[in-house]
Amino acid sequence: MMAVISLLAILLTTGLLTGVYQNLLCRQVISDLREYVLLVREAGSDFWREGTGSGVAGSGIRLTLMDGEGKVLFDNEADSSLLENHGDRPEVRQAMESGEGESVRRSGTFTHNTFYYAIRLENGSVLRAARDSESVAGIFGSVLPDIFWILAVLILMSVGMSHFLTGKFIYPIERLAEAPDAEGEPGGYEELEPLIEKIRQQRRELVRNTRIRQEFTANVSHELKTPLTAISGYAELIETGLASERDIPGFAKGIHSSADRLLALINDILRLSELDDSETEMEFECLNLYELAKNCAEMLQVNAAKQGVEIQVEGEDCWISGNRQMAEELLYNLCDNAVRYNVKGGTVNIRVRKADSDTPGTPGRRRILLQVSDTGIGIPKEHQERIFERFYRVDKSRSRGMGGTGLGLAIVKHIVARHDADMKLESKAGSGTRISVSFSECPPPPEGL
Ligand code: ADP
Repeated sequence: MMAVISLLAILLTTGLLTGVYQNLLCRQVISDLREYVLLVREAGSDFWREGTGSGVAGSGIRLTLMDGEGKVLFDNEADSSLLENHGDRPEVRQAMESGEGESVRRSGTFTHNTFYYAIRLENGSVLRAARDSESVAGIFGSVLPDIFWILAVLILMSVGMSHFLTGKFIYPIERLAEAPDAEGEPGGYEELEPLIEKIRQQRRELVRNTRIRQEFTANVSHELKTPLTAISGYAELIETGLASERDIPGFAKGIHSSADRLLALINDILRLSELDDSETEMEFECLNLYELAKNCAEMLQVNAAKQGVEIQVEGEDCWISGNRQMAEELLYNLCDNAVRYNVKGGTVNIRVRKADSDTPGTPGRRRILLQVSDTGIGIPKEHQERIFERFYRVDKSRSRGMGGTGLGLAIVKHIVARHDADMKLESKAGSGTRISVSFSECPPPPEGL
């Protein structure tokens, strides 16, 4: 490619230069001839009549004198009596008509041009000077072999160069393709470094995501299998008649709770995959977080009462910019956990308030803080980082026993990310947990709405 481009460039340049040169040459030769003719005229007729041998010969210029009709009176290179009438030559005709004339004719071979310049003398006769000059085509022809050699060298050089450059450019990419994880200088050039780093980073992310997805699929299958096995077992016992009449209500209850568990699991899995899909449209609006917190507390009231847990809601009207369904889900999951992992006689405290600091990037717009605190069993330090992972539970049987799917906090984490919110976990095993989420404030709607 590069070779073709340089070839074209060379040809184009040569062509253009030839054109320009041809033009210059023509003008130069004609103006030389003109000066010569004028000189001869100044010198007077004696000069060239007598100086046939000395003044004119050897200069390479042919001098011809014609009378007003074009009949040749004198020619320094040929016998004038043998020459035909020159009256029809363009330069002679022009000179007869307007006093001076010029023309260029190809002479004999292709490589030479003859230039003519003629003037009319006072007595009506015409004086003409002519000169052969190598035409540009001729010059071009004579330098053609040189051009050819230069071209050959240039083509070789450009092929070599493009080979070298391509190699240099491709090498690090090839290395990257062969061993994407190999660290260190890939042996390329600086400009490529950010790209390579980006590719590596994306690859790492891809590998990580694939691993997470595989783990998730394995976990989902495992989680679905447990209640299904239970359902199948109970049903088989009833089917084969091995279960006595007395056992049947208990088995039916087992089937019922396993089916509920399946439903809860499937719901959470679907919800997560919806949240995973970043294409899903999310409608944002101004939400009164305090209002949502009170509704949530009311919804959980019955469950909390069953476990001897008291729910308190504290705070004031605070407006956040968020998606209603997601905000409700987030609140529900956090408060539900605070109730479920609580102790008899414990409390859950939901607090909504304006934070002291502004939203980063938007001065004047404060953060709204949601805090869900409980006096429950707490989370041991070593588990704190992992509880937001899918299916991660501190105590599997306790979680399952209370209808937990292990996905609640993973959903919360997603919702937090979708709202550009921040989340903080503080917990101490045995004394309780506090999860704080800070949202962007939304300006409250005008009065009366
Ligand atoms: P689950 O359905 O099991 O509750 P989550 O994702 O909501 O799933 O929570 C993951 C794990 O984090 C729970 O199994 C539990 O061990 C722990 N956890 C969550 N919230 C609390 C809390 N308020 N107090 C103590 N442990 C909690």
